[in-house]
Amino acid sequence: MDYQKILEDIYQEILPYSKVGAQADYIPALAKVDPDQYGISLKTVMGESYSFMKADKRFSIQSIAKVFAVAMGLSMKGESLWKLVGKEPSGTAFNSLVQLEIEKGKPRNPFINAGAIVVADMLMSELDDPEGEFIRFIRSLCGSDTIDYNMEVAVSERSKGYLNAAIANLLKYHGSISNDIEDVLMFYFKMCSVEMSCEELAQAFLAFTNSTPFEYAGYKMTSSQIKRLNAVMQTCGFYDEAGEFSYLVGLPGKSGVGGGIVAVHPLRYSVAVWSPRLNSKGNSVMGMKALELLTTYTQESIF
Ligand code: GLN
Repeated sequence: MDYQKILEDIYQEILPYSKVGAQADYIPALAKVDPDQYGISLKTVMGESYSFMKADKRFSIQSIAKVFAVAMGLSMKGESLWKLVGKEPSGTAFNSLVQLEIEKGKPRNPFINAGAIVVADMLMSELDDPEGEFIRFIRSLCGSDTIDYNMEVAVSERSKGYLNAAIANLLKYHGSISNDIEDVLMFYFKMCSVEMSCEELAQAFLAFTNSTPFEYAGYKMTSSQIKRLNAVMQTCGFYDEAGEFSYLVGLPGKSGVGGGIVAVHPLRYSVAVWSPRLNSKGNSVMGMKALELLTTYTQESIF
């Protein structure tokens, strides 16, 4: 399969979408990012690597960080993680409060903000140095020790983070988080502020592409846990657009409002794409199109 040519052809085909959508501006620091950027990187389990355009430029991974948090959570707590947070699609926006009130503080899944805030709280309760451990795990998955938090982005998100603060308060009211609300929010915003390139994200997600059990920075996942992480990405990774992504692309994946999307073709490849302009659901317009064309041209998906 000539993945390099496919990545280059895809770019030509998605160019008409290059001005559609806008970057996230509810996080003031992200409003400053040049929206007209694009990169893609695909890495196979056989060790081949293909990149195009700005594949080595780091950007804010935002909600993609939630996957690393769930991987650590599954590694530490196993199935009991699901007592804290569900694993059903929400069908609602990533920052919605509606279900959380009706369902008395148990988030539907760990990829909506409420669920990720609960997972962040759990990591804080279990670990002496959650911030250090979180970044060590990501660095270990990528084999890069320069990946880091961007404090300007985290502080900027906190300055306007009224909705996430409301979610955290509702969770606290229902006893779903144990630590101080302000501390949990700041850890959550820091996790989202991590910066990685498409190449680094594709490398990190290779661990979830293979079904081989792994250990990175002391965190172990079994084949079964890797399968389950992919299952939750498939059903919940794109919030109220999870069905659409599954329909168009046919791979488990996760998006972030920084414009990144990572997807996994189990036992074949991981692919990360980045373009900051988002659709109304908070998912990258060019990123979604690129992955749709990737599985169309390669005629490979999980279905
Ligand atoms: N930090 C962002 C938020 O909480 C993450 C959302 C996202 O990437 N979908 O709003």
